[in-house]
Parts: sequence; C-alpha cells; structure tokens
Amino acid sequence: GKSKEKDDGANYDIGLQDVGDGTGIVTRFPPEPSGYLHIGHAKAALLNDYFAHEKYKGTLLLRFDDTNPIKEKQEFQDAIVEDLALMGITADRTSYTSDYFQELYEYCVEMIKRGKAYADDTAQEKMRQERMDGIPSERRDSSIEDNLARFEEMKKGTEEGLRWCIRAKMSVDDPNKALRDPVIYRCSPDQSHHRTGDTWKIYPTYDFCCPIVDSIEGVTHALRTTEYNDRDAQYQWFIKALDLRGVYNWGFARLNFVRTLLSKRKLTRIVNEGVVDGWDDARMPTVRGVRRRGVTIPALREFILKQGPSKNIVNQDWYAFWATNKKHIDPIAARYTAIAEEAKVTCTIVGAREGVITEEKDKHAKYTNLGKKKVVFSSSVLLEQADAASFAQDEEITLMNWGNAIVRKISHSINPLAKPSGLKTVTGLELELHLQGDVKKTSKKVTWLSTDQNLIPVELVDFDYLITKDKLEEDDRLEDFLNKNTKTVTKAVADCNVAELAVDDIIQFDRKGYFRIDKAFAHGEAAVAFNIPTGKSK
Ligand code: ATP
Ligand code: MG
Ligand code: MG
Repeated sequence: GKSKEKDDGANYDIGLQDVGDGTGIVTRFPPEPSGYLHIGHAKAALLNDYFAHEKYKGTLLLRFDDTNPIKEKQEFQDAIVEDLALMGITADRTSYTSDYFQELYEYCVEMIKRGKAYADDTAQEKMRQERMDGIPSERRDSSIEDNLARFEEMKKGTEEGLRWCIRAKMSVDDPNKALRDPVIYRCSPDQSHHRTGDTWKIYPTYDFCCPIVDSIEGVTHALRTTEYNDRDAQYQWFIKALDLRGVYNWGFARLNFVRTLLSKRKLTRIVNEGVVDGWDDARMPTVRGVRRRGVTIPALREFILKQGPSKNIVNQDWYAFWATNKKHIDPIAARYTAIAEEAKVTCTIVGAREGVITEEKDKHAKYTNLGKKKVVFSSSVLLEQADAASFAQDEEITLMNWGNAIVRKISHSINPLAKPSGLKTVTGLELELHLQGDVKKTSKKVTWLSTDQNLIPVELVDFDYLITKDKLEEDDRLEDFLNKNTKTVTKAVADCNVAELAVDDIIQFDRKGYFRIDKAFAHGEAAVAFNIPTGKSK
C-alpha cells in the first residue's frame, strides 16, 4: 500500500498462527461482486492487507467470489477494484472463483468417487427439517454410479438434473449443524454467468469453493468473520477429504454500526427503491458514501485498524468514527464564513474605514500552511438572525477576525406567526466599532460577511441516519424503520473565497462545522457543501 500512514493505530500485538519469517504468508480478500464495498468489507480488506503487507511481508490475493451469477455485475467488480485502490490496497494477484469451475467440478466428481458426496432430490423444506432433526436423507447411501449419473444430468441442465443437488457426506447429526451434509453443488440451467456465460449449468456453493480455491491458490491464512466459526470445521473437513494443502482459519469480528445497514442485500434494496441516490450517496455506509460524507482514507484506515483483530462484536456507534476523522480533517480544513440566506440580517457598521477594504488573512489561524484568503471589510455586513436577536442595546460583542463593536440600534418587526407570540425578528442593526475593546471579555463572537464582495451561494446539506432503530432484527421489515427525513438543505451565502473551492475540498465554515464540497460553485449555480459530523452529535 502506498498511501498508508505510519501511525495508523493498528493493534500490532496480535498476529496470525505459525507464520515462520512471515514471507510465506498469503491472505486473500474475497468479495462477491454483487454490490459496492461497504465499511464492513473495508475492514476485511484492510485486515488482510495489513497482515500480508505490513505486519508480514507476504502476499495478498484479491479473489472475486463470483459463484452466484444472479446477483453479480461487471459494474460492481470495477467499483471494488477502484475502491480498494482508493484505500491504498494493491493485491499481488487477482483471480475469480469462476476460473476454477472446471477444477471444482472435478473435485466434486472426486468426492463422489471417494464416497464423500451424494446426489439428493429431497424437497427443500424436507431437507431442512431432516437436517434439523438429524435424520439421514433417503439418498444418502445411493451408489457411486447413481450419484455420478445424477451429477452429469445436473451438469447438462436437464429437467431431471434440475431436481438434484450434491451434498457432502459429512454427518447426519453432528451437534455442529454446519457439518450436517451441506449442499455443495446446485443446478441453475437458466443462469448465464457474467464471466463464463452459459458454459455451466451447475454452480458450486461458497462452502465448497472456499477451502478448495484457498488451497489451490496457496492461501496460508483464511481470515473470516467470526460468524463463520461454526463453518471452520466444515472447511477443514473438505481439505482433509480431498487431501488438499492445509489452510488456517482465523476469525475476526464483523463490523456493525448503529442505525446502519451493512448487508449488500438491504443496501441494494434502498438503492433500487430510490431511498438514496445511489451507492455513493453520502448516507450510504459504502466506502464511497462515507468518503462523500467527508471521511478521509487515512481516517478510515486508522479507525478500522485501531479496532485490531478483536473478536468482540459490538454495535459500534458513529461517534468514535467521526471523532477519528476530525483529528485528520482539522489540520487541513481552511476556514470560511457562511450565513444562512433566510436568517441574514443587514447591519451598518459605524466607524469602519472609508470604502471597501480587502485584506489577506490566513485561511486558518493555527495552520498557516493552508494559505491566505481575502477578507472584505466595509460598512455594510450581514449577520445571523440568531446572533442579532440575542443582542441587547449597548452590548459589546466581537465580530470574528475584526474586533469588538457596540450595539447601537436594533430595529425589530413583530412576526405575528412566531411562537411564542411576540418573538421579534431583527430587521436591521447598527454596530459601532470599538476596536480597542478586549475580544477576550465578550461572550458573543459572531460571524459576519461584508455585502461589498461577491457573495457565493452555497447549499449546506445535513444528513441523518437512514434507519430509525439502532439494530434491525432479522424479521424487522426494513420499510417500517426507514427514516423519512434524512436530508436537510439550508441555502446560505458565503465569502468570495468559496468561489475557488473544488469538489472534495474539506473546509470549515466558522461556527457551523466541517464541510466537504460536493459541488463547486460554477456559472452562478450554488456550491453544495455536505456537513461532516465530528463525533459530538450524530
Ligand atoms: P454482505 O452481507 O454485505 O453481502 P458478504 O459477506 O456477503 O457481506 P462478501 O462480498 O462476500 O459480502 O464479503 C467480502 C468479505 O468481507 C468477506 O470476507 C466477509 O466476511 C467480509 N465482510 C462482509 N461484511 C463484513 C462486516 N460487516 N464486517 C467485517 N467483514 C465483513
Ligand atoms: Mg459472502
Ligand atoms: Mg451477506
């Protein structure tokens, strides 16, 4: 990886089993190309990369686990490659499970010949019940010849073949249900595969492919989320049954976040149903989504590797995630000023120097390496309504980056609709500069914008969680827990420097927070800035 930071907070103490000098370590990241990478996938990818390339000097494989042709698409595959590159992950080799369809077929024939697999035509529901109850299938002891013949029918995709599947002959009643004769091959004659076309009418299951392809490809350590712990025994059974080279299983905790869907199936649904604008929508927990929301890649790496290979599954809240990000963005976020369009109050400054004065100021008082911006001073400025409404007659306040001023005149209008009734709207203000005043002694530091500059229209966008429940249960209906209101747009005007910001710039609007520019200002059309959470709220 190239864009890695030295101090990424990884948990360096924990390693893989039996690593020798580390150069022989081979790990793999095996995504199914059925969606864009989400931050859970990012964890798997970063951990595999960390062990292969940082902790040890080994090899990282990228393998597209493309055995389920119904859900897979080239678009997803391309996006996965791009997102890995974005995270600074470079695989040493890339392959496809479908490259091994011939070998897998031959291994299945071999299993049948060794009496370790059989064809079954038990109806799905009955098979499920038998597995639950620990009852053998009627077909369990069919002859090798019959099993082979049925597998050939499956391979041809005939009407007869379609009735059958192949099951490994592991156990009828092992307490570990993963060992109760799992299905290893299915017949799907009508399914065209995005890489192998119509060549195959049979497709191997994930459980069967995984140990075989890992072994063939030289994987030494197969990292899997701990939900697979029960299936490790099955994985090892295949290795033994086929006399394959051994592979270690190594478990790590699945990443979960509150109010967040981390399942491609559900994410696909909300994309297809238009709940969000696409896989890269800033509300999506995809790598692209969180980036668009304003997470930097070093922050994402740090957050994920900091959790290390812990096996504790927690429903993570987003605070720590955004707090980590804040550390990364604060030193790069130049400061600007924006005032909400609806809430702006025009104010006259008494005692300002004659005319319009433009000064060069640091974009960030502390991080002066961020360069300079223009600050325009004149006698006509905009203030925020909420600030103006809080002022008392003759109160001394501070205009940020300018100095103190005393409130001399306040004009109000009574808004008849306002609640509580009688609440006043400030319609005009007169402030008298008092630059010798001590800015440390005022309690109100307010943002302001001279109207004598090209004020730039900007839409400030705030997002909320997509779902309303911390943790969706298996039988919760997604539609019952979709948040109806997840995007708030506030029209604002910003200082003239904002015209120069480009997409992806991360900035801070004084007193409003951090933002990522999603659309630059152009042709008079407003810039769009997405609010970046900081961990304090949301
Ligand atoms: P999903 O349920 O989102 O489809 P998946 O496991 O079916 O996830 P894959 O493309 O097969 O999707 O996953 C690739 C790798 O990412 C696997 O090794 C898987 O274990 C890992 N992975 C998936 N989700 C998470 C998660 N939430 N946390 C950590 N690792 C995950
Ligand atoms: Mg999977
Ligand atoms: Mg899944």
